[in-house]
Amino acid sequence: MIIVFTGGTGGTKLVQGLQQVVAPEDLTVIVNTGDDIEWWGLHVSPDIDSVLYGLSDLLSKERGWGVDDDSFRCLERMKQLGQPSWFSLGDLDLATHLTRTAMLRAGKSLSRTTAELASKMGIRARVLPMSDERISTMLDTAKGTLTFQEYFVRERHQIAVRRVRFEGAHRAHPAPGVIESIEAAEAIIFAPSNPVTSIGPILAVPGIRDALRRAKAPVAVVSPIVGGEAVTGPAGALMTMMGWESSIAGVAKAYEDILDVLVADRADEAAASAMRSESLRVLCTNTIMKSMDDKRELARFTLEACAVQRSAEA
Ligand code: GDP
Repeated sequence: MIIVFTGGTGGTKLVQGLQQVVAPEDLTVIVNTGDDIEWWGLHVSPDIDSVLYGLSDLLSKERGWGVDDDSFRCLERMKQLGQPSWFSLGDLDLATHLTRTAMLRAGKSLSRTTAELASKMGIRARVLPMSDERISTMLDTAKGTLTFQEYFVRERHQIAVRRVRFEGAHRAHPAPGVIESIEAAEAIIFAPSNPVTSIGPILAVPGIRDALRRAKAPVAVVSPIVGGEAVTGPAGALMTMMGWESSIAGVAKAYEDILDVLVADRADEAAASAMRSESLRVLCTNTIMKSMDDKRELARFTLEACAVQRSAEA
């Protein structure tokens, strides 16, 4: 079994590639829920939805989030009714949030809700939230404490962040299947996701990081930093704030206790040469995923790197 840890837009691209090269029953995707938001009374799980839409080919190619070819008529109407409108939900996307919210209100867990939504969307891979309990990523900024979506969407991540916290994480538990998947995995992959706000919340759930440290399977991280900068979003700035620096060395630092193989971009070949050591393999390839071929090739390359690592360790 192959497991992949991911956030939303960046990570989903690699998850789509993995779906092309791994049998669905052998693929488990563990998803960040620190960005979840209560919006218009509905429970929205943006990263889970990106993964579900990505795996069922519903994901909007132009936006990278939400449903392809969606309309925003409800959003327009909400605006006219004086409701908050800075967070965009499409009309078709709303059906997912209505369904999830109804299931949660009926007493189902988030993991059960996610499994049922995945099944309705024809997805055969296993998609697990990091936890069934509510964990909220909070950012202490120059404008006060904000939720992740307030920072990322409303403020367009243009304000300085002093600290990132994962509210509720200390008393949360991994969702059913998370620890078991880590223990049973043949390869563990971290998709190119923001190490601070997409992977940080997952690793903050008590038990997950320890299970990764103990795991027999090789752990490969695909760098979200290319040429010293984030491909999209605030990963570089947030990593600098954490004291990790915006570079592939910074990515290695973020995962230093669990990392076996770092998959970096060819643009970072010089930095990669400087970092290679007995205990860390750093491999370079094209990591920018524009087409489905790019996604599949990067997935194949990462799996191959894990297989080589496994045979070297055997
Ligand atoms: P979010 O929930 O929308 O923030 O999504 P993720 O955390 O999964 O992804 C965002 C991260 O992915 C950013 O740090 C980007 O630098 C990185 N990213 C986005 N697209 C690509 C890509 O094609 N290749 C690589 N290597 N990184 C990417």
